[in-house]
Amino acid sequence: MSDTIETDKVVHLHYVLTDGEGKELDRSHGDEPLTYLHGHGNIVPGLEEALVGKKVGDELSVVVPPEKAYGARDGKQQKVPRSAFSAGADLRVGMQVMSRDEQGRQFPMWIAKLQGATVVLDANHPLAGVTLHFSVKVDGMRDATEDEKKHGHAHGRDGHGHHH
Ligand code: ZN
Repeated sequence: MSDTIETDKVVHLHYVLTDGEGKELDRSHGDEPLTYLHGHGNIVPGLEEALVGKKVGDELSVVVPPEKAYGARDGKQQKVPRSAFSAGADLRVGMQVMSRDEQGRQFPMWIAKLQGATVVLDANHPLAGVTLHFSVKVDGMRDATEDEKKHGHAHGRDGHGHHH
């Protein structure tokens, strides 16, 4: 049993994410670290790569280019009528909605603009095209349970968390 980060370790991280101009985009919440299963694509690839071989207590700064994060922006936008959403829906810019292609497959889009009766959807993740600057501290780790390996994600800090 190794004590460095590798595939099938459940890792607990404290992190702050900024856009490189000092604007904070996200962070782990207070004393609650982010818990994820390593090696299963649950965090952006560039951060996952940088964490391989790290130990509990390690602190690192990682700069992740868009191609190892949320990809480049491709400018694909789509206008849909407001009436395509349920009347009471609280639509906000940046909100993720599910769209469907011709084969009926669902895929995520994000609300880019609200223009009266028109909603502009963007196929790009809001962080597409952004170079991510992570400041990370490894707070803890454990081996994944068989269930977690099967599911491809962590079940909470202790491995017995509920999920949907
Ligand atoms: Zn699960």
